[in-house]
Amino acid sequence: MSEKDDFKKSGEISRKARDYAREICVVGMKHIDLVEKVEKKIIQLGGKPAFPVDVSIDSVAAHQTPNVGDTKVLEKGQVVKVDIGAHVNGCVTDTAVTVLLGPDWKDLKKAADDALKAAIEQSVPGNKIRNIGKAIEAAIKNHKYQTIANLSGHGIGQWIVHDAPSIPNYDNGDDTKLEEEQTIAIEPFATNGVGAVKDGKPDGVYRLLERRPVRLDSVRKVVSYIEKEYMTLPFSPRWLTHLQNYQFALRILEQEGVIKQYTELPEKSGGMVAQAEKSVMVGYGVLT
Ligand code: MN
Ligand code: MN
Repeated sequence: MSEKDDFKKSGEISRKARDYAREICVVGMKHIDLVEKVEKKIIQLGGKPAFPVDVSIDSVAAHQTPNVGDTKVLEKGQVVKVDIGAHVNGCVTDTAVTVLLGPDWKDLKKAADDALKAAIEQSVPGNKIRNIGKAIEAAIKNHKYQTIANLSGHGIGQWIVHDAPSIPNYDNGDDTKLEEEQTIAIEPFATNGVGAVKDGKPDGVYRLLERRPVRLDSVRKVVSYIEKEYMTLPFSPRWLTHLQNYQFALRILEQEGVIKQYTELPEKSGGMVAQAEKSVMVGYGVLT
């Protein structure tokens, strides 16, 4: 299979996993059960998770995900962003859906969904990247909400989730033209807050930065496993529980700068946040 076919297959898997997530995301479900079921679904469909599934609640825009032993439960009224990535031979697709667990915030979700639709229409060969951002901002403003300017879509590549270029959620002045078969993820966020995120608490998701000699044998085993299974894609400690002393190893590796940990991304002013995301192959269409 060509790389192009792998992206298409990956997109189909991400889309099916997203539809499945939307179905099973209900009040009373544990976050950890939701992410583990969706990750399992990705594998059943013939892909691998490109990153741990995120379940970001209310004013957390992104990067909230349960770690080992998490007991949080989905609650009535919450605005839940489920963010999912799959890869086939490293070809990453990225998609997200907002699920409302109550009667409120329908228009906030609609703002993000409309923005994504408008952005996809702009994602044609030869169009300027700034026009995607412009369409997103206009659609969200149309619903009287704010776009989140310091979060953006991105190129998606082989073994890389966040590749160049940045696909902005506002008109950032980037006159670069989209090219045929370029693969990108578009992800508008709508909020009733100020329209920015800040770094929150560490979220328990890591990624390998560089391979460096490791002294301790048990730590070396963990880093070898990470490199073999995930390369530089983000991973969760939930995926390492079969390895001896994995928690100790992660601590050492983080201290030594071999791996880095991500943080949650809450809206700066505590605003409510909805997100929509799909991956697109320019000139071909929506992958997810
Ligand atoms: Mn995503
Ligand atoms: Mn993304």
